[in-house]
Amino acid sequence: MIPRTVFNTEHEQFRDTVRKFLENEAVPHHAQWEKEGQVDRALWNKAGEMGFLCPQVPEAYGGLELDFGYNAIIDEEISRLGLTGIGWGLHSDIAVPYIANYGSEEQKQKYLPKCISGEIVTAIAMTEPGTGSDLQNVRTTAIRDGDHYVLNGSKTFITNGQHAELVIVVAKTNPDEGASGVSLLLVDTSLPGFKKGTNLEKIGMKAQDTSELFFDDVRVPAEDLLGGEGQGFIYLMQELPQERLGVAIGAIANAEAGLQWTIDYVRERKAFGRPIASFQNTQFKLAELSSELTALRVFVDRCLELHYEKKLDVPTAAKAKLLATDFQCKLLDECVQLHGGYGYMWEYPIARAWADARVQRIYAGTNEIMKLIIGRDLVKN
Ligand SMILES: Cc1cc2nc3c(=O)[nH]c(=O)nc-3n(C[C@H](O)[C@H](O)[C@H](O)COP(=O)(O)OP(=O)(O)OC[C@H]3O[C@@H](n4cnc5c(N)ncnc54)[C@H](O)[C@@H]3O)c2cc1C
Repeated sequence: MIPRTVFNTEHEQFRDTVRKFLENEAVPHHAQWEKEGQVDRALWNKAGEMGFLCPQVPEAYGGLELDFGYNAIIDEEISRLGLTGIGWGLHSDIAVPYIANYGSEEQKQKYLPKCISGEIVTAIAMTEPGTGSDLQNVRTTAIRDGDHYVLNGSKTFITNGQHAELVIVVAKTNPDEGASGVSLLLVDTSLPGFKKGTNLEKIGMKAQDTSELFFDDVRVPAEDLLGGEGQGFIYLMQELPQERLGVAIGAIANAEAGLQWTIDYVRERKAFGRPIASFQNTQFKLAELSSELTALRVFVDRCLELHYEKKLDVPTAAKAKLLATDFQCKLLDECVQLHGGYGYMWEYPIARAWADARVQRIYAGTNEIMKLIIGRDLVKN
């Protein structure tokens, strides 16, 4: 074991609180939430009371003003317990930071306290039915009309899409431009013309509400433009390293849990009169996985340290996301194999983790897009 140095005593005390909360308030209900396709909305308010939402937000807006290590701990504990329905990471690590970093004083006062308390659940809507990786080519438009932007278009695969009260929508304020025509708007989901589609049925992360969203002449007040007009693409590029780091952190924590469940299983399970842990193949597989996992844990922790120092660059975050999620899927697949038929049964955490993990290589930028980012950086002049 290589001791972790990225967290201090306060972080670890916070971890205990998060873990106890999740064990009491989420673990007993998660299987039911998977059937319902979403977690209980009240969980968000309970998390808000505990200080688990948006721990980074400054005290001036009711936040705890903590470092990203606290977000990482929440992500790790959720991933370790396989609670993939809980969309706090998307809210705290991804969506709300846009408001904190680019919002006007009025927007911060209006929204941040409610995001922290759980009164407002946020989502971020980039992907459209016709475009995902190629974000510059979104077709949703937000055309200025007096004191409003008129929003038209649709989005898909939006995490927290059913629960969200506030959605950061990526839209073209100038449809004739590429990246420089992209803006971000804070859109209240109760506005006329805003429609939530059905909760999408997925092969994993079944308790996570993921939705289509439709905008039909939604009149968004001009003061709800986030940051500058035409600056949206730049903001997205600036925020994506934190999003990708969060995904990598969750991937490694989940892989660690998957390996431990498997070690416990192979020590118990017998074949040919002896524990399957005693077979050389089992030990070699576990040894390979554990070695790679150790290397990745060290790398991802180092990325977290770099992020504390505001030095995590875009290609390094892409490497963390690429390596951690590819490895998570590989490890879980090997672990399913070591569980035999039981590894394919939904009631076994390893089966659910295997299905839940697959999307990690797809969202937050596909792993092919990660390679594009890393490769372009290598050959640039
Ligand atoms: C469960 C889930 C939750 C999600 N949550 C959100 C969310 O909250 N908000 C949001 O906006 N989106 C969300 N997404 C969408 C996700 O980010 C996109 O699915 C992803 O970015 C890929 O876009 P796409 O599906 O359009 O695939 P495409 O862009 O059509 O890609 C299809 C394939 O082509 C490859 N490809 C594309 N371009 C290139 C290239 N230039 N070179 C090489 N290969 C390429 C891709 O890697 C992929 O393998 C979510 C998706 C899922 C499944």
